[in-house]
Amino acid sequence: MMDKRAFRTPVGDEGLYILDTASWRTTRPIMDKSTCINCGLCMAYCPVNAVKWAKDTKFFLTYDYCKGCGICAQECPKNAIMMEKEGEDT
Ligand code: SF4
Ligand code: SF4
Repeated sequence: MMDKRAFRTPVGDEGLYILDTASWRTTRPIMDKSTCINCGLCMAYCPVNAVKWAKDTKFFLTYDYCKGCGICAQECPKNAIMMEKEGEDT
């Protein structure tokens, strides 16, 4: 019997986005919360939903799927997101 996983698509069994987009990253976005005005544009533009929101912290970046494309940094009206070379100390 053929392995079920041979038919796997980018959308997994549970409908989750399973592409390892984080492994593509060569640059990493860093958010300066002191400059951020919580407009939400970074979240709206992120293609992999790596920008999250929580009541206490407001908008913040996550790195499980962030591919380092820099769109969030480009769209931020306050330049509150900087792209740094992956692996550099933050
Ligand atoms: S660098 Fe790209 S993938 Fe990562 S948080 Fe910004 S927009 Fe999303
Ligand atoms: S786009 Fe910039 S100012 Fe707006 S929420 Fe994101 S980091 Fe903050």
